This record gives sequence, C-alpha cells and structure tokens, in this order.
Amino acid sequence: MTRADYTRTCAGCGSVVTEDWVNGQKCFRCYAPGQTCGYIVGIERFLPYVPAWCPKMGGCLRPPERYEVQKT
Ligand SMILES: [Zn+2]
Repeated sequence: MTRADYTRTCAGCGSVVTEDWVNGQKCFRCYAPGQTCGYIVGIERFLPYVPAWCPKMGGCLRPPERYEVQKT
C-alpha cells in the first residue's frame, strides 16, 4: 500500500522554472525530463504533496482520478 509522502517537494531539484500565476502570484513548474515534465509543483511555495514531482525527487505521477476529491 502506498501512502502519501508529505516530506518531499521539487525544491532544489534544479529543473524548476518560476512563472506568473493569477493574482500576482508565482507558480513553479518542474521541467525535469519524464512523465511529469512541465507540471506545476507549487504555487507561491513548493507544495509538499504533489504527485508531479520529477523522478529526481521521487515523484511518481499516478492516474489523476486517484487524486480527485471523493464525491458522495
Ligand atoms: Zn523537479
């Protein structure tokens, strides 16, 4: 069973580019080669649990439906 890992981010991976986001905020995209290239890994700060960290940081993109809020 896989559990969420809240300890890793893309901070310091070396492939992150800062871009403008809405409301004057900044977002971070990681352009490390691989499945998650170009994915947003944080807004204003690096989010601790994004399934899109690059492989360098142990990221592993899983099917997006697994991350949706469960609807009742
Ligand atoms: Zn990265």
